[in-house]
Amino acid sequence: MNTRQGIGMTSQRTRDRLIDRLREKGIANEAILEVMRSTPRHLFVDEALASRAYEDTALPIGNGQTISQPYIVARMTEVLLGSHPPRRVLEVGTGCGYQTAILAQLVEEVFTVERVAPLQQRARNLLYELGLNNVRYQHSDGNWGWKKHAPYDGIIVTAAPESVPEELLQQLADGGRLVIPTGGQGQAQRLRLITRQGDEFSETRLEAVSFVPLVQGDLS
Ligand code: SAH
Repeated sequence: MNTRQGIGMTSQRTRDRLIDRLREKGIANEAILEVMRSTPRHLFVDEALASRAYEDTALPIGNGQTISQPYIVARMTEVLLGSHPPRRVLEVGTGCGYQTAILAQLVEEVFTVERVAPLQQRARNLLYELGLNNVRYQHSDGNWGWKKHAPYDGIIVTAAPESVPEELLQQLADGGRLVIPTGGQGQAQRLRLITRQGDEFSETRLEAVSFVPLVQGDLS
């Protein structure tokens, strides 16, 4: 990992405080906490917002999108990894690439899909600069997953559809785990964990969340 150091509000102490907070909120997976401690979140947001990068909040990243709240990134990663971390993970909604960067340090290979090309290009450049080379990028509609590399041991969706896209279930490996928020626009959203055993899918409902919608249709 590149060692570009932050200063002031992006100092190590500030980052440590965020990790303490995640721990207080119930994140127990030390590998995830360590990766989040060392990943420079301030590089994923606009310079004007860098001083707020280690607060536990979502922030705007342009193109009407947001960088997820650190707690939600940690929580979804923890649920995705379970007790038996997946090797190959599909991520839908690259955005600024922060969640992608966390995953890339915890699993062997990440395949990430995003519908807004400039956002994905920025993410790709930053992750390259950070030396994270085990990520493949695709500009497309994530409702269709990324069939070419399926099946995936893990799938994580960081935007909310009304219901779970059938194609994502199809691309989940036997024994695989899908973590996804669902809920229509303006409605309460709920995070769900779906696990596959053969052709059986079982679901655990987790906490309430708030994501941008998983858009249907045209790419931008
Ligand atoms: N993972 C990011 C947060 C992503 S925000 C983080 O770590 O902070 C949600 C992203 O999903 C946005 O970038 C949005 O453009 C993207 N998105 C929305 N609908 C999509 C679709 N149908 N296919 C792929 N990406 C989509």
